[in-house]
Amino acid sequence: MRHRSTDTSKEIWISPREPQQQVFRVDCLGAYPPRLKSSHKYHLSCRLCPSVKQVALSSYNRPVQQSQPEHHLHHPPLIYHQHEPKMPDLIPHQPRPRILSGMRPTGPLHLGNYMGALFNWVRLQNLLTDAGEPQYDCFFFIADLHALTTDYADPASLRKNIRDVALDFLAAGLDPERSTLFVQSHVPQHAELFTLFSMFTPLPWLERVPTYKDQQEQLREKDLNTFGFLGYPLLQAADILLYQPDFVPVGADQVAHVELTREVARRFNQLYCSLQTPAIAKAHTEHEKTHSDKDILRAEISADAVTEGVLPEPRVLLTPSPKLPGLDGRKMSKSYGNTLMLSEPEADLRAKLKTMVTDPARVRRTDPGNPEICPVGDLHKVFSTKETIAEVWQGCTTAGIGCIQCKSWLADNIVREIAPIQQRRRDLESDPDRLDAILWDGAARARQRAIQTLQHVRQAIGLE
Ligand code: SF4
Repeated sequence: MRHRSTDTSKEIWISPREPQQQVFRVDCLGAYPPRLKSSHKYHLSCRLCPSVKQVALSSYNRPVQQSQPEHHLHHPPLIYHQHEPKMPDLIPHQPRPRILSGMRPTGPLHLGNYMGALFNWVRLQNLLTDAGEPQYDCFFFIADLHALTTDYADPASLRKNIRDVALDFLAAGLDPERSTLFVQSHVPQHAELFTLFSMFTPLPWLERVPTYKDQQEQLREKDLNTFGFLGYPLLQAADILLYQPDFVPVGADQVAHVELTREVARRFNQLYCSLQTPAIAKAHTEHEKTHSDKDILRAEISADAVTEGVLPEPRVLLTPSPKLPGLDGRKMSKSYGNTLMLSEPEADLRAKLKTMVTDPARVRRTDPGNPEICPVGDLHKVFSTKETIAEVWQGCTTAGIGCIQCKSWLADNIVREIAPIQQRRRDLESDPDRLDAILWDGAARARQRAIQTLQHVRQAIGLE
């Protein structure tokens, strides 16, 4: 579909589906579009700030011409300098409690990722209040900067991994209409807040995080004596506090990280929010010359949030994370090579399950077993119906069933759980433009919130 703008000198294309015409959304709040090509035509507008539309159109109208230098096509400085950002009134009032969580892009998700986090995210997204309204305002993100803290030397697969995780998010039921889904690095305010936090966070706070030493031990083949790796819990604090969530849904093993986030928020509020802000102090000084109360009032109104503490401390929302062993009985993890993938083809899944370890005491078919200590029993508890679980427990403890049959029942139940997810994933894979648009829109929405927080943080520190 092609439209002409009211300005007849500019032709505007709005459909991305025609092969030679692409649409890129350009927003004025911190992100560049993908690389532009001079052979294509563009519809350029800012959905966040309508006044930018004309600026963008006029500045981008030239890139459509073949003679435009390549670096001008890629770098649109006008967008940043020809309007006043209007952050606060861009945010619709959200009375719902906000929750936020993220996941590293390590490639397609396995069943441990799914049951340990994603399943709960979908559940929280779909919770309704008594009035039938969504219970939470949900933000979920793909933590690609965190992936770089350990894989900085080999980022080749990062782009593909991000898309794989995004596909799994959507296929599992995260809905971009109900949740804000985005990629961390598409919101540059994460890095800025991290930098500001690093100025006042004591080193021992980071060195004492339990996973710091553990991960260095586990990932010995990598050089993790880096500032980025030491600072990743602080980056997590920035990830969280940037969106000022009421709750952070985590499993028990992540509680320490949220506690560090709470300490960082507390320290920030103590350092920068209990005293008169620089803006108010300046207004008082000006008052001696101008005798204008308006300036003081304006400064105080804009500093309301500052005097009360800019960064509220989020609370932990403990979510159930069932024990999900891998094929070798240890925790399911890619680093152990013992995973069953969410996108695993049925034949592969059945073949892998046949190799899964069982109760070591059950050597012969005629030996009774104990599902309570068998990893296959643990998976039955997660994926099977009550009736199947009862049959397994009865059959195993009396040697009434063999392990092959038991695993076959388990495979049936896992396949039933993941088959619709896999179908949705295939549908999404066939439409890569849609995935791009979802992530682009999600990042734009996330940036609105992030910029608002950064504005208050910078004001509190005195950087404005
Ligand atoms: S029958 Fe099932 S639960 Fe019992 S030992 Fe075999 S695999 Fe494990």
